[in-house]
Amino acid sequence: MRIVSIVGTRPQLIKAAALGPALRARHEEVFVDTGQHWDEELAGVFFAELGLPRPDVSLGIGGGSASEQVGRMLPALEGVLRAVRPDAVLVYGDTNSTLAGALAAAQQGIPLAHVEAGLRSFDRTMPEEVNRVVADHLARWCFAPTPTAVANLAAEGIRDGVVLVGDVLQDLAARTIPEIRDPAVLAEIGQRLLGDDGAFRPGGYCFATVHRAANRSPEAMRRWLELLAVVAGPTRPVVLPLHPGTRAAIEAAGLVLPVGVVVVPPVGYRTSLALQLHAAAVVTDSGGVQREAAWLGVPCLVLRETTEWREAVEGSAGRVVVVGLDPDRARAALERLAPVERSAELARERDRKSTRLNSSHSQISYAVFCLKK
Ligand code: UDP
Repeated sequence: MRIVSIVGTRPQLIKAAALGPALRARHEEVFVDTGQHWDEELAGVFFAELGLPRPDVSLGIGGGSASEQVGRMLPALEGVLRAVRPDAVLVYGDTNSTLAGALAAAQQGIPLAHVEAGLRSFDRTMPEEVNRVVADHLARWCFAPTPTAVANLAAEGIRDGVVLVGDVLQDLAARTIPEIRDPAVLAEIGQRLLGDDGAFRPGGYCFATVHRAANRSPEAMRRWLELLAVVAGPTRPVVLPLHPGTRAAIEAAGLVLPVGVVVVPPVGYRTSLALQLHAAAVVTDSGGVQREAAWLGVPCLVLRETTEWREAVEGSAGRVVVVGLDPDRARAALERLAPVERSAELARERDRKSTRLNSSHSQISYAVFCLKK
């Protein structure tokens, strides 16, 4: 089959890197990048690091509101689909690029495959929730990562074309862990990010990411900055690879980062995974990071009130905790899961265990491999 696959953001580039080889083994892939994330730190770095092919088509549509982005992507994608005449369109996740790709395919009557189908936070104030609901209802093939996702689809009457395939991001994590398991990687990362090869020691820091739209209002930012101030102790800093959108929102609101929070630019995939694996704890509002932390067995505080990754929380033996933006809940969870005096020892134990992460590689790759007109 000729398949147009559409990406646009950091997590989609990462997922495309995991799935692309299977796609190209059987099908002709036309790889389209909308440019929703366009800068080097959020996009460019992943091409080299993850061996992604250069896009066949780069639309260069970044910036502006969600509506503006989707409005500009639609005619551009229409042009691509008319020119390429694919047998199918494949979209990942829940971004503006997912929504635009799904709509453009539907408008051209081209069958749609949705990777990461069926996830629901049941919170339609989240733009991601709206995007994934629309993509699922338009898709001919819904590749669901979890049993809950399959059940969510069934509850909305979507049964045909639903395949439980596992999590494509888990495949990549499983492949990458052997490269980052040795804590010696931290010396190189510390040198590169902070000019200090002793900056990061196993269990000696926490790792945080914050980028969701809901966490960029001045009120929400005040609350999570207060929470990070609670997490950051005198002997255990929080390293925060700051998303440029979040950085701009903090600057516009005139807010100041608390003492003990070490800001670095967004990092590459391996660095992100390594900093998570060896951290005392992870603090995040990211869908990808919360489940990576769960797979790695690292204590994780989720800075949201809901999560669409129920299995990650339920299967974590209490290590992944949804704390919202509440510093008291964060403090209690950290005292239980990552007490400062034990965090080096706990990190070392974890490094040894995390070699056993299972990959769901065969299922998602096989499902994509088997796509038929
Ligand atoms: N990630 C990264 N560099 C960073 C922060 C995150 O490579 O500075 C990776 C992270 O390990 C995960 C993915 O980006 O694989 C998650 O993407 P993001 O948090 O942007 O989006 P979400 O998963 O919330 O959709």
